[in-house]
Amino acid sequence: MYKNYRPNNLKEALDWMAEHKLIPVAGGTDLMIRARNWQGASRAMKGDVIYIQHLDELRFITETETDYHIGAGVTQAQFCQCDMLPDYAREVVGQMATPAIRNAATIGGNIANAASVADLLPLLYAADAKIVLRSRDSRRVLPIQSFEIGKYKTARRADELIFEVILPKLEIRRTLYKKMGQRRASILSKVSFMALEAEDGTRIAIGAVNDTVVRSKELEKRINEGGGVKSVLDGYKALLHGSDDKRSTKRYRERVVINLLMKWMEEKR
Ligand SMILES: Cc1cc2nc3c(=O)[nH]c(=O)nc-3n(C[C@H](O)[C@H](O)[C@H](O)COP(=O)(O)OP(=O)(O)OC[C@H]3O[C@@H](n4cnc5c(N)ncnc54)[C@H](O)[C@@H]3O)c2cc1C
Repeated sequence: MYKNYRPNNLKEALDWMAEHKLIPVAGGTDLMIRARNWQGASRAMKGDVIYIQHLDELRFITETETDYHIGAGVTQAQFCQCDMLPDYAREVVGQMATPAIRNAATIGGNIANAASVADLLPLLYAADAKIVLRSRDSRRVLPIQSFEIGKYKTARRADELIFEVILPKLEIRRTLYKKMGQRRASILSKVSFMALEAEDGTRIAIGAVNDTVVRSKELEKRINEGGGVKSVLDGYKALLHGSDDKRSTKRYRERVVINLLMKWMEEKR
């Protein structure tokens, strides 16, 4: 039977994380499902857990002149309802899961889980977001690409919590976001595609196609310089390594990505 820790504040949480090997539980919408057991039995957690959802120090949304700061404990519902945050970001989170799940599921949980289908990740890659990690004795700031190192793998150390996400303020001129799934609501993505036209040009991030999100600054440069459509499409095709799985096929995902890229580039001309 695993032990439960319920800290009174962030300091206590980080002290306990430094002293024990603990699994953080935020909204529990990923973890509890993965740990489900036969009816009547307690959850099959893989170790002792620490509950962090109630910690006020992780539930904030603030802004500076250059960035938004979003605490890891902010729920998807709070994110969507926050007028301060840009519409293109709220649209992505508003299409995740269902209202009931969004009331519990946190931003930090979606990022820490590092699932290839996590819908927040393409947005964070396209925006060049940074992840702030805190432990009892350290604070680290990592670009999202350095944090997400593989399918279900992150650069987080066992004694660290995700503290916040830093989302740079961009001057957005155009966006295209598409989440493709079996149905509209409560479904994991077959493909999630985020294109932004910011002051420095096109940024494109594609989720659910590989183990981690696909983003290529070299191909974006080619788009910005008006390079040949074929060379851009071939370049992206070469980056899509995923295989067929229970949600979709490699071929379907490739076709969706190519169609969306063509739409994006046509609108640019
Ligand atoms: C019905 C249903 C529909 C869903 N639909 C979608 C969807 O459309 N798109 C999508 O992307 N996801 C979806 N999900 C998955 C899930 O809801 C999200 O990934 C959610 O954001 C997870 O957040 P959480 O707070 O519940 O995480 P938890 O389940 O509490 O934790 C998930 C992981 O993150 C870790 N963790 C949590 N917080 C921190 C932190 N601050 N620091 C370090 N580690 C931390 C935990 O240890 C665990 O490994 C769905 C889930 C369900 C049940």
